[in-house]
Amino acid sequence: MTIPEQLKKGVEIASKTNLILSEFLAVIAGKKPVLAVTFPSKSERELIESNFPDLVVFCSKKTWGIDKQQEVCAISKDKSLAKQTAEYLNFDIEKQGQLLGYPKCCVEKHQYFSSHSLGLNSSLVTYQSYRNTKKCNFLTNNLFNFCSRLGAKKENFEFLNKYHSFNNKKLPIPPWNFQFISHIPCKYDCKESIKIGKEIDSLLKEYAPDMEKTIKHTLSRPILFFDLFRLVVFDDCLKEGILYYNKIIPPYFFLENPLMEKIKMGNKITVTDSKVEIFKDNLNLFTYQKKNEADGFILDFGEDF
Ligand SMILES: [Zn+2]
Repeated sequence: MTIPEQLKKGVEIASKTNLILSEFLAVIAGKKPVLAVTFPSKSERELIESNFPDLVVFCSKKTWGIDKQQEVCAISKDKSLAKQTAEYLNFDIEKQGQLLGYPKCCVEKHQYFSSHSLGLNSSLVTYQSYRNTKKCNFLTNNLFNFCSRLGAKKENFEFLNKYHSFNNKKLPIPPWNFQFISHIPCKYDCKESIKIGKEIDSLLKEYAPDMEKTIKHTLSRPILFFDLFRLVVFDDCLKEGILYYNKIIPPYFFLENPLMEKIKMGNKITVTDSKVEIFKDNLNLFTYQKKNEADGFILDFGEDF
């Protein structure tokens, strides 16, 4: 099979598994050395092995998350890379980042946070990347991809399952596909991350154009971010620091009331270091007092297409 034939087959086969399509295509196209995954059952692994003789699937005895039945598997064209990835995952961050094809600048930042036991503090990690950004680029929007950000917390895996099953009904494509990059970017305009994002975007555009449109539409919206599963996606954009919106759009997350309730009623949000204010026109509906600077801020991934 030629590479274009394999890519076409990749689109068909990935839809029968829990693989992130863009990652799978990137491995087939040779744009990404390895991908890591946990399969819900043996049949997914067999499906890949029987359809893609050029790919190696290596599963280690290590487990990911809370489910002891789920082995860590790695898929690559190179057996040694697949084996190393399955064995290094969640063990050596720098080695793991290199194997998965992540930019050095982003891996170093992740390593720094992890060595200070802050790697799983999503609020802080995301805020730091945001603070170093001049203009957020949608290609680097990693906020709907949780693989590198869950740790081994049982609660996070429960949230992830809840998030997937809730949004599966609301979205035209499986919720785990909303990404162009798989890693945590060192900033939301990281040049190396944008480069990877662009390559992945053009692969999808060619082989799964409808899915590409849906992903781009969702990733290029403003996000009010509090924490890992506490965020809101809006339909409109930021004008001079103020978020004007008509409605919130999927994927949907889990914000407590009255915050969520008032956001749904409002059409304007302002953010300072100490508070998030929600308005309906000029009427203040609710003021959220932030616990710290990172507890509620707007990432504007909006683009002029
Ligand atoms: Zn970077």
